[in-house]
Amino acid sequence: MICIRGAVTAEENTRESILENTELLLREIIEKNDIAVEDIVCIDFTATKDLDKAYPAVAARKLGITEAALMCMQEMYVENSLKMCLRVGLFAENGKKQSSAKHIYLKGAQVLRPDIAVIDAVAIDGPAGSGKSTVAKAIAKALGYVYVDTGAMYRTIGLDCSENGIDCRDEKAVSQKAESTDIELKFENGLQKIYLNKKDVTEKIRTQECAENASLVARYPYVREKLASLQRKIAEDTQVVMDGRDIGTNILPGAKTKIYLDASSEVRAKRRVGELKDKGIEADFSQILARVIQRDEQDKNREHNPLTVAKDAHVIDTSNMSVDEVREKILAIVRGE
Ligand code: C5P
Repeated sequence: MICIRGAVTAEENTRESILENTELLLREIIEKNDIAVEDIVCIDFTATKDLDKAYPAVAARKLGITEAALMCMQEMYVENSLKMCLRVGLFAENGKKQSSAKHIYLKGAQVLRPDIAVIDAVAIDGPAGSGKSTVAKAIAKALGYVYVDTGAMYRTIGLDCSENGIDCRDEKAVSQKAESTDIELKFENGLQKIYLNKKDVTEKIRTQECAENASLVARYPYVREKLASLQRKIAEDTQVVMDGRDIGTNILPGAKTKIYLDASSEVRAKRRVGELKDKGIEADFSQILARVIQRDEQDKNREHNPLTVAKDAHVIDTSNMSVDEVREKILAIVRGE
């Protein structure tokens, strides 16, 4: 027996909205878990107290689920919990293991039971220069997962704005532009290539200017929402090692392994100077250090999804560690050692 959990929010307390959203949730659960209707044994439905215009179970009957036992319950009121939320627990007898269950959360419904809704992913967060991307690539290679660099997406929005003469400090203009920005990710040999309006910008976004513009546009909720749904979608279909600033806390709260990489600002600035030197660019240490500190400030203190350590993250200070040491430490955590 397998149990799949899921949740969705309704737009309003009407019969249509309750049934439409429940149907959408059930369809996704069935499709993503490859379940035959006749294998469904029972489904539990719950709705928050603010949804009382229909029994969500009616949606199951509409989908031809006629044999399974259906039960609807109203949830207790819990302060600060999600509003107008519908949840299901679907039990099926299809010979699959519980560990293969893909739990589904749609339209802002949060993973309220990360212990159950675990997804097979490694989330790596931390400030610029903490070694995230180098380590994440190595981990992805070792596990055979796909490496997803979410910072590249914010950099691409920043690039699109600056190429079109839009001030990255202008939230309205950036949000309007971001609406039509066409960002596409492709994965070759487990590595990510990023396309802006069909053009490969993977290398172009690696400048200091793009990093700073990324940090500016990353403050805006419209930009974050747009990229968050792209990021979650990738992790739904693929096993990923995803790095960024809010992966463990916001994008994949159910990730099986969460890592927070840190290093002193001096070490991080030194690494950046070294990278630039390798590219033949001379850089002034104190200037780079000031920029590192400024970007940290911005990323840690913004209103929406700031850089913070997830409660269940393993914190690793990489200041005095080699890439190989960090890689081995994370792989041991993944293996549960
Ligand atoms: O990691 P990277 O330096 O490429 O990120 C660029 C900027 O994008 C960060 O300074 C941060 O402001 C933003 N970002 C974010 N959330 C993420 C990834 C990056 O806000 N998940």
